[in-house]
Amino acid sequence: MGIDKNVSLLEKEMRLKKEEEELLREQINNRVFFTTFEKAIDFCRSNSLWPVSFGLACCAIEMMASGGAKYDISRFGYEVFRPSPRHADVMIVAGTVTEKMAPLLKHLYDQMPEPKYVIAMGSCAISGGPFADSYSVVRGVDEIVPVDVIVPGCPPRPEALIDGFLSLKEKVRNPEVAKVRRNV
Ligand code: SF4
Repeated sequence: MGIDKNVSLLEKEMRLKKEEEELLREQINNRVFFTTFEKAIDFCRSNSLWPVSFGLACCAIEMMASGGAKYDISRFGYEVFRPSPRHADVMIVAGTVTEKMAPLLKHLYDQMPEPKYVIAMGSCAISGGPFADSYSVVRGVDEIVPVDVIVPGCPPRPEALIDGFLSLKEKVRNPEVAKVRRNV
């Protein structure tokens, strides 16, 4: 009788211990995760992209509106427009790129530190837009600098630019994907 009681007490104790272990494991799984240093850096970088203050034509008005209270791009961490390309890691090409402006744009891009990204905003920046047949307009900024994300429209609305930033965020978090695209 005494032995049976001891066995049932032991079983109860073991069951309690097992439940405690499961609870602890669940808590660890919910609160602790492991990653690599590079992935942590990419995660932080993708949430704090700093665009260079740079606008070329009408699309730039929509870019500016994205920083206002209504659209508030700072919700995503992308509002720190920098007056110097040396402080920036994103160039938003917002507007028509003329042949005259192209070398200056390239100069600004070259001054940005690596890693750096380019968003082509609007049909002018993507392909020359309504001015593609003009003698003075570049037919797409990708002829001058590598483009990571395109935001179509004439002009694209601030929501579209924010969507472009979110696409860029995915690329920054998965640099291998961006690399494959660039090597194509
Ligand atoms: S895409 Fe349209 S809105 Fe944007 S710069 Fe060209 S003409 Fe202007």
